[in-house]
Amino acid sequence: MDHFLYRDGALFAEDVPVAEIAAAVGTPFYCYSTATLERHFRLFDEALEGVDHLVCYAMKAASNQAILKTLAALGAGMDVVSGGEYARAIAAGVPGDRIVFSGVGKTCEEIATVLAGGIRQFNVESEPEMEAINAVALEMGVVAPITVRVNPDVDAKTHAKIATGKSENKFGIPISRAREVYAHAASLKGLKVVGIDVHIGSQLTQLEPFELAYRKVAELTEQLRSDGHEIIRLDLGGGLGIPYERSNSAPPLPMEYGAMVKRVLGHLDVEIEIEPGRLIAGNAGIMVSRVIYVKSGEDREFLIVDGAMNDLIRPAMYEAHHDIVPVIEAEPGLEPVRYDIVGPVCESGDTFAKGRAMTPLAAGDLIAFRSAGAYGAVMASEYNSRPLIPEVLVKGDQFAVIRRRPTYEEMINRDSIPTWL
Ligand SMILES: *Cc1c(COP(=O)(O)O)cnc(C)c1O
Repeated sequence: MDHFLYRDGALFAEDVPVAEIAAAVGTPFYCYSTATLERHFRLFDEALEGVDHLVCYAMKAASNQAILKTLAALGAGMDVVSGGEYARAIAAGVPGDRIVFSGVGKTCEEIATVLAGGIRQFNVESEPEMEAINAVALEMGVVAPITVRVNPDVDAKTHAKIATGKSENKFGIPISRAREVYAHAASLKGLKVVGIDVHIGSQLTQLEPFELAYRKVAELTEQLRSDGHEIIRLDLGGGLGIPYERSNSAPPLPMEYGAMVKRVLGHLDVEIEIEPGRLIAGNAGIMVSRVIYVKSGEDREFLIVDGAMNDLIRPAMYEAHHDIVPVIEAEPGLEPVRYDIVGPVCESGDTFAKGRAMTPLAAGDLIAFRSAGAYGAVMASEYNSRPLIPEVLVKGDQFAVIRRRPTYEEMINRDSIPTWL
């Protein structure tokens, strides 16, 4: 459920008409709902009630400072995957002991920054990285808390580009080698083992792959404990999917996910961390765009809109579906038209939908791409020299621009000219 609903035929973001925001900030833009962000965070928090837990928002899904502050105020931790994300989390006021650092290629510079600023744990993804964290920690005279990310070789049954838990993926160490790697970790004086980490992919629409992976982690927990390691924490990753296509998909709910986690891992007396990103931010955001032209092709109608693949790359990159709806609903009774909905970028891949049935639209009409809150703005680029589009946050009857649209001049002035020109 989200808070983008129609009232008398007009799409609202909470209590604000979307058309009013469009008039104020221009199109295209991203618009997020505070109530939806908060609701989704609480769903996870409540799903794990009764076990010691921390919900660490995977901020790569949407990392605007205002979004981070909204979630941090509810007690969220953060899962960060770069020095830049760590800096964003700290700037948003998240304490270091609520930040976990994931990612396959942490540099020594990033490791040192994070150790100096405070960190809950590093999720270590390889032995060379483990050595690097140890070396930096020893040099700084501190001890780095770590988990090792294990790769359970489980098929997440999701898009190949966002599956991370099979042996052919670059993530984690094979679970079959975990005991050996933990023995090595225990011998390194700059490290303190605190738990195990696993994350098998994103946009999972079934619980079974999670459960398979978590059963393997439960078994490993008992083996590692019998080897003498202190396993006080299990980081279960993120990945729970969202219903991009409302008409025909219903992924498991956080409550069902939480119940499974308690059933599979509840007996271990460990603290549980989860790292949801998409499920918190995805349906909490829309991208609003305006129709520039309606163009009749040989055998189809094109809706050429002012948003493009550089603003929302998911359809081009993952063949992803976004529900696309008119901001002002048409009069009832009009026959739907099938449109190819495309952006202005000079690539055929700049196509949001093909043959999508919509009520008839005309130049100047506003449309909204639903479920665009996660992996939307954060993946945007300035391809075709299209400035990054603004982000707006709504709360009740208020809205605020939380990242403004840069001017052409600002965009150009980031380049510098060498002395020989
Ligand atoms: C991307 C990622 C997540 C979040 O995945 P979602 O599908 O957005 O929930 C969590 N943990 C790690 C390590 C990730 O890389």
